[in-house]
Amino acid sequence: MRILIISDIHANLEALEACLKAAPEHDRVFNLGDLVGYGANPNEVTERARTLGEVFVRGNHDKACTGQMSLDDFNPVAARAAIWTRERLSEDNMNFLRGLPQGPVTPLKDLQCVHGSPRDEDEYVLTGREAYSILERTAPQLTFFGHTHVQGAYWIDDMKDKEGVIAPRYTAGPGVQHFNFSLAKTAKYLANPGSIGQPRDGDPRAAFALYDGDAGNVTFYRVPYDIAGAQRKIIAAGLPERLATRLEEGQ
Ligand code: ZN
Repeated sequence: MRILIISDIHANLEALEACLKAAPEHDRVFNLGDLVGYGANPNEVTERARTLGEVFVRGNHDKACTGQMSLDDFNPVAARAAIWTRERLSEDNMNFLRGLPQGPVTPLKDLQCVHGSPRDEDEYVLTGREAYSILERTAPQLTFFGHTHVQGAYWIDDMKDKEGVIAPRYTAGPGVQHFNFSLAKTAKYLANPGSIGQPRDGDPRAAFALYDGDAGNVTFYRVPYDIAGAQRKIIAAGLPERLATRLEEGQ
């Protein structure tokens, strides 16, 4: 079973299409939330994502853009984008996004999907310390999470009393790049595929992951896409300019 793990598309259709084109053969798609918010194509992205699979968890932007969460905790740029999105979502897509389940969801034995973390769907897991304390209390071997828009993984191995971080390294060069790591049977992992539509790890290329259950490994991908095209749409839509500039910075 090969599973495409996608997250934080954020209404960026150019990035989503590029990732789907670059994606290797797979059997299922798991989506970790934040389909909308920030980008200029919330309806198109929601419709495309709906055709890809049936496993979803909701993100904070999915909640905010559908009126299920107050915008008080959002910075002004994010709040403006959420209101813009709310005004444009079709009724059908609005209802679909409202119905997305809260994580964790466990589509496979020993694999769970969350947006933020297993203990709090809105938590940002950004440090090893946070990740290890979560993993100590996590039952499934593999937890896929999003929300931070930073690609990489954390692991703990109780048998060997070890823990660590997996930060993908890519060689410079054009085209799609990938980075693979094997899963140790005795370890537990928190893995983030990165963000398709708004990377924040300094690499502006769109990010996703592939989990291969038979081979017991995870592959991270980075995919160049039409950033200028996505930026033009953001500006033309009257969304905050910062949402366009940050795409090329990957921050
Ligand atoms: Zn997000």
